[in-house]
Amino acid sequence: MQKLEQLYEGKAKKVFKTDDPERYIVSYKDDATALNGLKRGTIVGKGVVNNRMTNHMMRLLEQQGIPTHYVQELNDRETVVKKVSIIPLEVVVRNFAAGSLATRLGLEEGTKMQCPVLEFCYKNDALADPMVNEYHIMAMGFATREELDRICGYALKINEFLQSYLKGCNLDLIDFKLEFGKLSDGTIVLADEISPDTCRLWDSTTHNHMDKDLWRRDMGGAEEAYQEVLKRLMGEN
Ligand code: UDP
Repeated sequence: MQKLEQLYEGKAKKVFKTDDPERYIVSYKDDATALNGLKRGTIVGKGVVNNRMTNHMMRLLEQQGIPTHYVQELNDRETVVKKVSIIPLEVVVRNFAAGSLATRLGLEEGTKMQCPVLEFCYKNDALADPMVNEYHIMAMGFATREELDRICGYALKINEFLQSYLKGCNLDLIDFKLEFGKLSDGTIVLADEISPDTCRLWDSTTHNHMDKDLWRRDMGGAEEAYQEVLKRLMGEN
């Protein structure tokens, strides 16, 4: 497969066309942003960790019956994915209170939620990704009732699988963000990434943060934590 011109450059990834109109190549960068782009920097080695962790998770999720955009890992930073049109939603699943939920509801970070919490944000930088509910999503034409039911079903199933898989790596899945896309025939598939950029992961024993919060909150040790997460997931590095 031949890599052709760059289609798009996002905050953490670049997307390239290929000689197959139904396939793109994504390339993961070490660039990090937070606070809706106000904070910018680099987490050395992050692109490799996020590429390899995402692909590992997507392969496992496919085995669990979740359709994904994953096709083939090309190298440490680059992966072939199916062409999708991204549904402009961030689908957030939360098992413990943290971040914006802890702030909004006045909960201490780490408080166990009595059931998983699903939230949606409209992906729009100019509006700072406002939270929306299912009615907004249908009224804006982003998804139908049936598509939303499918997305919610997938998100909860992904949560069940990831939680138990990560527990085996001595990591607690606090919360995470998913994005879904549509293939040209309308099939909804999991897209984007599953990585320490998009998941809050705490060491189950020490409760140390092992994710992007280390960088967002200037706590230090992000590079080492990303490598450690990959090592725990893959057995080696
Ligand atoms: N998240 C993300 N991208 C975003 C916003 C959130 O990947 O643009 C992830 C974040 O890493 C966390 C979860 O979604 O795992 C919930 O984030 P939250 O709403 O608490 O926002 P934050 O505290 O990161 O601003």
